[in-house]
Amino acid sequence: MIHKYDAVIAGGGLGGLLTAALLSQQGKSVYLLERLPFFGGRFTTHKLDGFEIPSGAVHMIPHSHRGILGQTLLKDLTLPVKIVDTHNFTTWYWTNRNPISHRRFWGIFRAFPSWKQRYFMFRKLLLTRDQVPNKSITFHEFLSSKTDDPQIFKFFNAVTGFALSLDISEMTVSTMYQFLDRLFKSGKAGVPIGGCKRVVDNLISFSQRNDVILHKNHELISLENNGSEITAGVVRNTRTNELTEVKAKEFVLNLGVNQINTILDTSKFDFRLPSSPVAKGGGFAFKSKASLLKKSTVAQFPDCNFVKGAVEPTLISPELAPKGYHLFLTHQIFGSKNIVTATKHARDEIFELFPSLQEEDELCVHTFHRDWPVNNTMQGADNKNFSEVFPNLNFVGDGFKGNAGWFMTEGVAYGTHQVVRKILSQKNYAK
Ligand SMILES: Cc1cc2nc3c(=O)[nH]c(=O)nc-3n(C[C@H](O)[C@H](O)[C@H](O)COP(=O)(O)OP(=O)(O)OC[C@H]3O[C@@H](n4cnc5c(N)ncnc54)[C@H](O)[C@@H]3O)c2cc1C
Repeated sequence: MIHKYDAVIAGGGLGGLLTAALLSQQGKSVYLLERLPFFGGRFTTHKLDGFEIPSGAVHMIPHSHRGILGQTLLKDLTLPVKIVDTHNFTTWYWTNRNPISHRRFWGIFRAFPSWKQRYFMFRKLLLTRDQVPNKSITFHEFLSSKTDDPQIFKFFNAVTGFALSLDISEMTVSTMYQFLDRLFKSGKAGVPIGGCKRVVDNLISFSQRNDVILHKNHELISLENNGSEITAGVVRNTRTNELTEVKAKEFVLNLGVNQINTILDTSKFDFRLPSSPVAKGGGFAFKSKASLLKKSTVAQFPDCNFVKGAVEPTLISPELAPKGYHLFLTHQIFGSKNIVTATKHARDEIFELFPSLQEEDELCVHTFHRDWPVNNTMQGADNKNFSEVFPNLNFVGDGFKGNAGWFMTEGVAYGTHQVVRKILSQKNYAK
């Protein structure tokens, strides 16, 4: 069979772009197709009134330059990207108290008003984490067996609601401890100068220099197989509806689970990816002339029922807003079916927390509640893949983080390395 490319990658989100860059760096011929008119998926921005409004990620790289994503960008690909740590690890906004900031992970104990709570957190939760008999129950169940202190529940829900778009009743004890371990080891989050779009633009330029064919407005609609491997993909130009067939030694999908099942037409096999739970995050973008957080940080709002946290990336990267303005981005879980009500309540909470904000300061609100436009498998819900069925079919992105406890874009980067390593080690793949 004549292979047109070494690898075809469907989906130009962070997972697809990282894969294209890493494979092309090793001299592989790569074709990357993206169905939208832009690359980056949920990890880019769109300009609105001079503000860089995120398509998803709020310009935060979870473990800054120390994490696996930072290391991939800076060390492996040597991109001219700068990632700057936030000043504080977290800042806690409890109702009727002054905000409490801490610069290191261990400072989280200061987030609690009483010594009894701090002792509980340290002694009963963190120090004894290896002795938990059943780590597959939900963290909410586990916590309920230990305490009925509402502030402890609110604390954890604020952390996971902001970082993972999950309530603690949606994640297991084991996922929670993996998440806390990574936070402890890797330290503060970082903001890439120029925001996530600058990262994406650099990945695109790098791939272009390595002759990757990058097509926007092109959608993978089906994959053909001969019973033992994927032989071709059918691609639709979303503007002209023209169909083309692409052939490759390896196929990499940076897509959501439901879509993968459709594209593979799994009704014809015994094997099917289980439909996985989806994350339902989103938030508001506000403009503000004065900085609302004062120091760069992840702000957490444990007493709020809707909005869980916020960041102000312009404290590190002022070019994300017009001169003289800050960009203030909140985050929450849009779990309720009634998005309009959830949005209204969240807006009320934000105005109460930051009274200087006015209605006209709201730039937009966005939610990721449905399947469109992207892959939004929730954290900790990693999928097995089809490699037993088709060895040349690979998956990257949110749903395929490789279960090593890396979260968000750090997990996407980890999963991508696994796939790239596997592809490069294929016998038939050696040049
Ligand atoms: C509101 C929100 C805030 C977040 N904040 C942060 C944060 O601050 N830090 C962080 O680390 N993470 C954050 N995340 C998570 C982060 O955005 C994701 O983990 C990451 O962007 C996922 O990348 P991905 O490559 O898996 O998928 P996606 O970004 O979903 O990319 C998939 C791409 O595939 C394309 N596609 C789909 N179907 C096809 C097809 N058939 N053919 C061709 N192309 C197709 C899509 O259009 C899309 O561009 C946030 C997420 C949300 C929703």
